[in-house]
Amino acid sequence: MRGSLIVISGPSGAGKGTVLSRLDTIYYGLTRSISVTTRAPRKGEVEGVHYFFRSDKQFDEMLSRNEFLETANVYDKRYGTPAFYVDKLLSEGKDVVLEIDTVGALNVKAMRPEAILIFLAPPSFSALKDRLVGRGTESEEQISLRLSKTAEEIAKAEKYDYIVINDEVDMAAEHLRSIIVASHLRTVNNTDFIKDFMRR
Ligand code: ADP
Ligand code: 5GP
Repeated sequence: MRGSLIVISGPSGAGKGTVLSRLDTIYYGLTRSISVTTRAPRKGEVEGVHYFFRSDKQFDEMLSRNEFLETANVYDKRYGTPAFYVDKLLSEGKDVVLEIDTVGALNVKAMRPEAILIFLAPPSFSALKDRLVGRGTESEEQISLRLSKTAEEIAKAEKYDYIVINDEVDMAAEHLRSIIVASHLRTVNNTDFIKDFMRR
């Protein structure tokens, strides 16, 4: 049985990284896909753990070899999900989480309708601003750029299968866990059980 392909998006600073880390403590067996990006590593980010950091030229080479499941330009940098790794994990029955922007997420849904799209929203615009400023990883200019995209991104939430509000980290992680557990119970993911039952 293939694993579930779970896609999480939300405005920068909504808490995607924080909630996914908390989810790891209450739900085992999720594998996060590692994206390729042309942006520079932030302090503490490790090559091959947080991202594969590549030049524009290297990104172009990967594109020409058709190595991406999806790509998008986000905040003036390029990001892409390597297809090979994701498909290998899914075929091994593992659940794979993609933390990607709304353009990439909707492209994944078009190509893989079985993917589960979850939008992680902050409780309010002011909470989002406080979180981005509090994280202290972006320049003022980058923070303004990211905040300016928020309305556009939240408007796309309606196209997602689920919306989870990250007011409180534990509750948001629990909601993600519930969605993933429910995805395993979908009839489309249990056709083998039905066939085997009828045969016996
Ligand atoms: P994203 O991955 O969506 O860009 P982060 O996980 O880096 O966001 O979170 C942005 C900032 O907000 C971090 O400093 C984080 O500690 C904080 N944060 C995340 N979730 C919450 C929450 N529920 N309440 C308060 N602060 C939060
Ligand atoms: P950051 O630079 O803060 O790590 O990520 C910026 C944005 O890029 C986030 O919205 C994140 O979800 C998105 N992103 C990260 N990796 C990918 C990817 O492989 N594809 C797409 N489409 N978006 C990505």
